[in-house]
Amino acid sequence: TVVTRFAPSPTGFLHIGGARTALFSYLYARRHGGKFLLRIEDTDRERSTQAAVDAIFEGMAWLGLHSDVEPVYQTRRFERYREVIAQMLAAGCAYPCYATKEELDQLRAEQIARKQKPRYDGRWRPEPGKTLPPPPPGVSPVVRFKNPLDGKVVVRDLVKGEIVFDNRELDDLIIARADGTPTYNFCVVVDDMDMGVTHVIRGDDHVNNTPRQINIFKALGATPPQYAHVSMILGSDGAKLSKRHGALGVMEYRAMGFLPEAMLNYLVRLGWSHGDQELFTLKEMIEKFDFDHVSPSPARFDMEKAYWVNHQYLKTAPLNAVVPEFEWHLRRLGLDPARGPRLEDVILAQRERCRTLLEMAEKSAFFFAELSGYDGKDAAKHLTADSASLIEALAEVLGALPHWEAAALHAAIGGFAEARGLALGKVAQPLRVAVAGMAVSPPIDQTLFLLGRERTLARLEAAVG
Ligand code: GLU
Repeated sequence: TVVTRFAPSPTGFLHIGGARTALFSYLYARRHGGKFLLRIEDTDRERSTQAAVDAIFEGMAWLGLHSDVEPVYQTRRFERYREVIAQMLAAGCAYPCYATKEELDQLRAEQIARKQKPRYDGRWRPEPGKTLPPPPPGVSPVVRFKNPLDGKVVVRDLVKGEIVFDNRELDDLIIARADGTPTYNFCVVVDDMDMGVTHVIRGDDHVNNTPRQINIFKALGATPPQYAHVSMILGSDGAKLSKRHGALGVMEYRAMGFLPEAMLNYLVRLGWSHGDQELFTLKEMIEKFDFDHVSPSPARFDMEKAYWVNHQYLKTAPLNAVVPEFEWHLRRLGLDPARGPRLEDVILAQRERCRTLLEMAEKSAFFFAELSGYDGKDAAKHLTADSASLIEALAEVLGALPHWEAAALHAAIGGFAEARGLALGKVAQPLRVAVAGMAVSPPIDQTLFLLGRERTLARLEAAVG
């Protein structure tokens, strides 16, 4: 069965590129009825923080990318790494190297002077018939992997196709430092092996690690997984995606008013396509995702498209998926979601004209709190001396309605405008500014209905007072 994993280094929030890698891994596992695992690569203790671990979990949870088992932490596995290093030393596929830093620096300088690529020369590598010098006293050795001296490593990458590496290009990788701590590429192999990972899906900045990792797998008598190296994401201008192209952290998209499902939809299209289909439910993504249609060239981030996708979701998503997020935004704006109309009704009234939940919350604030004032321009235009008498007369008509219902409000406002020979807008706009504080709101009858009789009449009175 298929086992994939997402293996972030906890040095910051969950960013767009990481989230996409996680999503691809998740979809591939789901598609094949397999498992999706999470591994925290926290061996770099200087740069890893608990706050970053929490931020990654927060981002994954918001996106709904749940791993199937408890996450694995590399820092809790040192015992296991030591065990494998000891096995490899015993089996002769790794060896202690006593070369000092000075020696290696000198070697490097000589190689550069000879215009050679700097690489370890195998001076402590045991070979049949070769006599090694006695270990120098007082030097703690590093442990090096005995990489094959010749032959090739062929990676059949699921995205990039066949990539061939020559073993002569790879020198004997240090797998344990002099203090005994294991190094990155080695830990990844032991973890992927122990976790039973069948498909490694990761950024293509790791391509050059792959042949080294495959060689270690083979030395351990394990079958290497398959690899899919996903190209990076560029900003709209073609430069590597960075802060200046907009937000990088997934949770910043929550704050901007994106729905998690819309975010997944946007992310899956960064590099993957299915004909010219743009919108996918999660179920469809799972059914359709494959590596044959993941492009090997870099994807471009396009904020406008992200907004478009979000709006499509906002317009059609089941309300129970939208309500909790909308509520979150209202609270964030300091509004009490309980002090207003039903959230479902507000969403239905607003979702055509709002691309994000933040926009929706901002434009709906007047339903949940008293007006703090009027938009200056809108008030100057619509709250004039003329409109004051209009509003007063309307307040009387509306106040006399036996039922506060959208249809009744619609008929009353329409009838009022007609009786005075006014276009509906001439009546609706002053009303809007009076109750919403601005000249944009859902249709006026809906707006007044949702706002309720008391609040509406109080605001009309305040507007002319
Ligand atoms: N920790 C690595 C990263 O965050 C991922 C390595 C891997 O997926 O093998 O880039």
